[in-house]
Amino acid sequence: LSATEQAVLDEIDEQNIDFLRLQFTDILGTVKNVSIPASQAEKAFTEGIYFDGSSIDGFVRIQESDMRLKPDPDTFAVLPWRKSEDSAAARLICDVMDTSTGEPFSGDPRGVLKSALERAEEMGYDVNAAPEPEFFLFEHDEDGRATTKTNDAGGYFDLAPKDLAQDVRRDIIFGLEDMGFDVEASHHEVAQGQHEINFTYDDALATADNVATFRSVVRAIAAEHDLHATFMPKPIPRINGSGMHTHISLFQDGENAFHDEDDEFNLSETAKQFTAGILAHAPALAAVTNPTVNSYKRLVPGYEAPVYVAWSDRNRSALIRKPAARVPAASRIEARFPDPSCNPYLAFAALIHAGLDGIENDLECDDPVRENIYEFDEEKRAEYGIETLPSNLGEAIEALQADEVVADALGEHVYEKFVEAKSQEYDEYRVDVSQWELDRYLETF
Ligand code: GLU
Ligand code: MG
Ligand code: MG
Repeated sequence: LSATEQAVLDEIDEQNIDFLRLQFTDILGTVKNVSIPASQAEKAFTEGIYFDGSSIDGFVRIQESDMRLKPDPDTFAVLPWRKSEDSAAARLICDVMDTSTGEPFSGDPRGVLKSALERAEEMGYDVNAAPEPEFFLFEHDEDGRATTKTNDAGGYFDLAPKDLAQDVRRDIIFGLEDMGFDVEASHHEVAQGQHEINFTYDDALATADNVATFRSVVRAIAAEHDLHATFMPKPIPRINGSGMHTHISLFQDGENAFHDEDDEFNLSETAKQFTAGILAHAPALAAVTNPTVNSYKRLVPGYEAPVYVAWSDRNRSALIRKPAARVPAASRIEARFPDPSCNPYLAFAALIHAGLDGIENDLECDDPVRENIYEFDEEKRAEYGIETLPSNLGEAIEALQADEVVADALGEHVYEKFVEAKSQEYDEYRVDVSQWELDRYLETF
């Protein structure tokens, strides 16, 4: 056992942990878990825990189904909502191993992100990321089903009594802190019933783990308040949707490789090339960072979500923004298009590969666009050479199929399963007849 593994075993004893939840994420971003009694912890570290991979969406066929979970001891955390005086449960996030080769399973999204980080490391970089997941809190109906009735009518930065959710937010923050999050701020977002909680940046792997954890903590604690928390990107039409802006910087030898004191925007050449890489691959990236039918209801002009492929040092209508930074270490870019329905491991992996591609190919960044691009007409956009993101999931999948860099970022296994699942999702939507159509046409024709 490694020292960290031994430390986890000691914690399990000290904190009266009875059960361990071994977690991993499937290709669509759903957290899966298997519970083992604490007595099995040592074996989980030394031998791993076997499970049937054919039952997990997008993993493997039935004839090659044995998989092994390898718990990452760095991810040990006690679950705050399963804690009493003499009993508690904890979780460990796991890597998925292929039992036939003993190697990491190529369909494991966490492994896909690890490969992206290895490529960055070979180029001399550590990748830091910080997400800003937004979410809505909705009431339940009498049958306990989620509605789209928000529990308040508050708006941006509102306080109680308008912001009825502040107790829920407080409990969520306590829960997150219990699980080791360093929460920086929380606020009521622009839309009614919409909230945002920010936590400090970390290396991209820890951050992706945190996003997966964040979503379950928020949902579990909202449920304790009889509310449904949703990360669906656009639950209510014609008001703001929920994004998951992702701040990224590269560090080299402990220094921020994105910072340049002498540059007008304090951005290094490396940062600009990385940005250019993301912009160049944006339509294909969207399939991964905005992977649901509903994602594209958010990516429309007028709701603080980006639509146009450009960067800006101030305007929020651009795909990438350079936020103001107080200290050199904080120089970073903010990708504004991702939404919280994405698989964070795959989304970060794709963004990182696209950015590194920009660096490797010395891609150049155009000048930042400072005006509100929402107000540009087509002619002006053409003059600035500004493209738009895919307008639906179908177009995004086509863009992904045409983009080798982003396809390779996922690896063959995940790419194939992802395209298959998402094409099917889009087809199901395409043949459906919506309420809007019925309202509009049923009596007219
Ligand atoms: N909710 C907006 C979005 O869809 C973002 C608002 C903000 O700037 O925080 O991305
Ligand atoms: Mg926000
Ligand atoms: Mg932001």
